[in-house]
Amino acid sequence: AESTINAEVLVLGGGPGGYTAAFRAADLGKKVVLVEKYPVLGGVCLNVGCIPSKALLHIAQVIHEAEAFEAHGVSFGKPELDLDKIRSWKESVTQSLNKGLAQLIKQRKITQLQGVGKFTSANTLEVQGDNGVQTVQFDNAIIAAGSHPTQIPTFPNDDPRLMDSTDALALEDIPEKLLIVGGGIIGLEMATVYHALGSKISVVELMDQIIPGCDKDLVTPLHKRIKKQYDNIWLKTRVQSIEATDEGLKVSFEGDKAPDSEVFDKVLVAVGRKPNGNLLDADKAGIEVDEAGFIPVDKQLRTNVDHIFAIGDIVGNPMLAHKASHEGKIAAEVISGHKAGFDALTIPSVAYTDPEVAWMGLTENQAKKQGIEYEKGAFPWAASGRSLSLGRNEGVTKVLCDKETGRLLGAGIVGPNAGELLAEAVLALEMGADAEDIGLTIHAHPTLSETFAFAAEMVTGTITDLY
Ligand code: FAD
Repeated sequence: AESTINAEVLVLGGGPGGYTAAFRAADLGKKVVLVEKYPVLGGVCLNVGCIPSKALLHIAQVIHEAEAFEAHGVSFGKPELDLDKIRSWKESVTQSLNKGLAQLIKQRKITQLQGVGKFTSANTLEVQGDNGVQTVQFDNAIIAAGSHPTQIPTFPNDDPRLMDSTDALALEDIPEKLLIVGGGIIGLEMATVYHALGSKISVVELMDQIIPGCDKDLVTPLHKRIKKQYDNIWLKTRVQSIEATDEGLKVSFEGDKAPDSEVFDKVLVAVGRKPNGNLLDADKAGIEVDEAGFIPVDKQLRTNVDHIFAIGDIVGNPMLAHKASHEGKIAAEVISGHKAGFDALTIPSVAYTDPEVAWMGLTENQAKKQGIEYEKGAFPWAASGRSLSLGRNEGVTKVLCDKETGRLLGAGIVGPNAGELLAEAVLALEMGADAEDIGLTIHAHPTLSETFAFAAEMVTGTITDLY
């Protein structure tokens, strides 16, 4: 049966961008229709991204800490894994958040349509669901249709032993030998999980460091630690081919120091994500989509069509949930006549590996490239009592400040809990704090957070010799 539904604001996609936009628009008094392919909200982040990965990473952390404390006089024995229970625990975490979102949608009287939405004109979207086709007639639209994992066409993508991040999070089994293609955040987080659960890990990365894009000094403590744990980390190496054989997936490599071909039980391909811009019949609404599938937008998140907005992974990098939700609020506010626009100074990045790597604002690489003169303070956690009492000494907290004014330009942290600690640096940057402001702020002792103040004091000169 075909029916037409009217919306003041149509939101296409129910991920962190889409549901946040829908909530904000409804709170501002708009009649909102939210179209989502799946019965549950939360998108990639909640269902097959941020949240399930963090649930599994917590298990990895507990296992690692238990192992490490054997050397300090507490032993728990070898962990016994019940994969079914691990999976259902992970699922219970996402399900409770799914339920929360369903409740919030209901409270706001947002109409949720399940089905695949495609534009049929600049004011209509057709939704193909299990119960037939529905048409949404909209005044404004917010496209939040996200992204999907990049596949390499020459790989045996139909072979279940070749995984993407969604397959890896499903945790079907624990392969004895696992190759991770791509040493970025997603690949390394999954490496952390599978290593803790018992897989032998190899990582292959095209660039000359893991987590390309992050300053090397922040990545080095992570690299050093996982080098001891994993079988191999091959840098500047490309996977040339993957062949499905009875024994496993036979992988050939190329590069100056390329290893010989090797057979793995499973391979996880984590080489980036592709935006879903080309899957929406956007041209029928006159919306411009670039070659890669991104939808270009201005600072108000407006596409080239005045009443149609786009947010989240589909508008470009960084593909992060907190960027998507921030943009979602702005789009809803602009539609509601507010003078809103995207003017955040920074979008923080976190790799939830062990140790975590977190950074925000200007990186040292960028400063050098752009010829920006900066003063650097890098405080080693080997001098942090709190870090040593966690049994860890490899962390570093780094701040970059303007050479003339002392104003904070960027910060990076590597160490346990770096992701949580980074928030203070983001606030300091947004508030325009300088090294003196940070150094003069009394931080509780002993905490990891005081390393941020110490790094700032290395810039102002109140901390000089550490040893
Ligand atoms: P999505 O979350 O992709 O949501 C888009 C939604 O639109 C989906 O639900 C999809 O079903 C729906 N949709 C698409 N097309 C249609 C259509 N035509 N009709 C109807 N519905 C449609 N980010 C972080 O910030 N922190 C992390 O720790 C983190 N970890 C991650 C771990 C993994 C393994 C992965 C894969 C990603 C991770 N990310 C993380 C990235 C994060 O998941 C994304 O940046 C975020 O989900 C983007 O939100 P979005 O709303 O733009 O799109």
